[in-house]
Amino acid sequence: MSRVLVLNCGSSSVKFALIETSSADSVASGLVENLGADAHLKANGPKGKVNEKISGKDHGEALESVVSFLQNQGVLEQGLVAVGHRVVHGGERFSGSVLITPQVLDAVRACNDLAPLHNPANLKGIEVASRVFPEVPQVAVFDTAFHQTIPAHAFLYPLPQSLYRERGIRRYGFHGTSHRFVSAKAAEMLGKPVADLCLITAHLGNGCSACAVLQGKSVDTTMGLTPMEGIPMGTRSGTIDPGIFRYLHDSLGWDFKRIDQLLNKESGLLGLSGLSNDMRTLAEARAQGHEGATLAIDVFCYRLAKEIAALAIALPRIDALVFTGGIGENSFLVRELTLAHLAVFGFQLDISRNGAHGRESKGIITRAETPTAMVVPTNEELLIALDSEQII
Ligand code: AMP
Repeated sequence: MSRVLVLNCGSSSVKFALIETSSADSVASGLVENLGADAHLKANGPKGKVNEKISGKDHGEALESVVSFLQNQGVLEQGLVAVGHRVVHGGERFSGSVLITPQVLDAVRACNDLAPLHNPANLKGIEVASRVFPEVPQVAVFDTAFHQTIPAHAFLYPLPQSLYRERGIRRYGFHGTSHRFVSAKAAEMLGKPVADLCLITAHLGNGCSACAVLQGKSVDTTMGLTPMEGIPMGTRSGTIDPGIFRYLHDSLGWDFKRIDQLLNKESGLLGLSGLSNDMRTLAEARAQGHEGATLAIDVFCYRLAKEIAALAIALPRIDALVFTGGIGENSFLVRELTLAHLAVFGFQLDISRNGAHGRESKGIITRAETPTAMVVPTNEELLIALDSEQII
């Protein structure tokens, strides 16, 4: 039996899952939220659930609570072979997962400027986990690594090249673990080797990105230097005219901090709807005729379709369009509206397959004999666990 503890440390949260790699089962999972303020542990294990206030001043205390939860559940003693860490930015240094060494830590630190909210928290998680589990190997799995196969003509911005050479300003892409997992899974469900397939994967959750996957390799994606580029998201705008920055500055006197807050936290589904960043809430409000929710979903699906269509040029053909993430897996409405905009590719939705989220049709939601669109549930924790096991 081998188990991997998967950790995803954010600035004020620690998510975890203990994965049994042979069966791909999650033995226990949960999260600590609101670190530093009113910290709570919400977790689930074989002996039941907990939802309790903890003294979570920092990542160290949070991880200690997670460890004592896992000990109380009696799941930690048996065969913990590795701790797998989700690390957001690996820059151009990492094109795959790696065993964490002091050199790897230095290289991750060197990417902090590119992901100032995420990488320092990921590093903190590694430091604390190495202290709590000194005998257990630690592995880093990067969000950016899968996209390191994107060619220069797709990753360069049309800016002076010195900004790329001297400052690393280029498109990196994110959600790589999810795009890699669902492209392999889609191939399995289609009964074909991934090396024979041309796929577009759309990860639609709170953050949204799509990826062109040629023979199992990312050849273009919608996110860029930061996770703000591309498809509109819960609270992020996605791609907009860069001229808007200057206009906001000149006409409203906004500085870059205010503009960053607008584009990261107040835009996307929330900004458009004036109601919520949550697709479930918006779909319900739309059904009751809420104008903002209706418009937000319309803009979201149109722009998503446009990004998917743009990615198609990176591929010789599309064997399947794959929907995943909380919205991609659950919103029949978003899939229906998006595919309607993609009629140029010949997609013809099967209403009943789509309504059942493809569960009775091997993921497929389009009519037989028409181009394939499908739903494939993502499982980033499992891929992090499998990578970690393989590396050690
Ligand atoms: P994730 O970040 O992958 O957990 O996805 C979160 C997003 O998925 C939120 O916008 C949720 O509203 C959305 N979501 C989850 N379940 C549903 C559902 N049944 N219908 C529509 N959207 C959903």
